[in-house]
Amino acid sequence: MKLAVQIQDLRKEYVLGGETVHALRGVSFDVPEGDFISIMGPSGSGKSTLLNLLGCLDRPTGGRYLLSGVDVSQMSDDRLADIRATRIGFIFQSYNLIPALTVVENIEVPLYYSRRINPASKARSLELAEMVGLGQRLGHRPTQLSGGQQQRVAIARSLVNDPEFILADEPTGNLDSVTTSEILDLLQRLNGEGRTIIMVTHEPDVAQRTKRSIVLRDGNIVSDLRH
Ligand code: ADP
Ligand code: MG
Repeated sequence: MKLAVQIQDLRKEYVLGGETVHALRGVSFDVPEGDFISIMGPSGSGKSTLLNLLGCLDRPTGGRYLLSGVDVSQMSDDRLADIRATRIGFIFQSYNLIPALTVVENIEVPLYYSRRINPASKARSLELAEMVGLGQRLGHRPTQLSGGQQQRVAIARSLVNDPEFILADEPTGNLDSVTTSEILDLLQRLNGEGRTIIMVTHEPDVAQRTKRSIVLRDGNIVSDLRH
């Protein structure tokens, strides 16, 4: 099986006011293509730090990170920005939509970063809005949408560059249980179509809907189980 991700002895230290915080203390795991992983653990255990490293938003202090077999830990900032823009889709707890933009314009935002805005990509944005059930809301702005609808926009946005890899940090953290379940249906569907998903959550019910759970505590992996 091909590996989407290999991380080996990944470490991250933050130096803050002369003190060193060991956010990740040497974490290793492989992610086969098409996996759907939940990352769990108490607050401060290193979940967001791990997701930021996986998303090439930050660099590790030590260890290796291979994305599709290529070491990204040594890449230039430009190459990392390129990888973020084209190969990784991001979904956040607070949606991070741009209030002044409509649904379809928000979905298009990553196309500007990847310099792929063109008539075909416009058509794709509309298709994705349909796919997440917002085909009737194209001209709405975020404040005119429910939390679940805003997260659907964010999911469509994460897909607009057709990334192989989706990273989500507590995507259902602000949603009620019915909406949470609908968002998980959507993520499971995307995973079923072959996309690799890594999702941080602190809700065991949410983790149960993934294929595998990795639990962090104090910067270490304490369990890594397939459901
Ligand atoms: P989680 O997402 O599991 O709550 P984080 O990855 O955000 O945990 O944080 C792990 C540890 O690293 C915590 O002790 C946190 O205070 C620290 N930390 C996170 N980001 C920074 C930063 N930018 N500077 C200093 N310390 C940080
Ligand atoms: Mg966090």
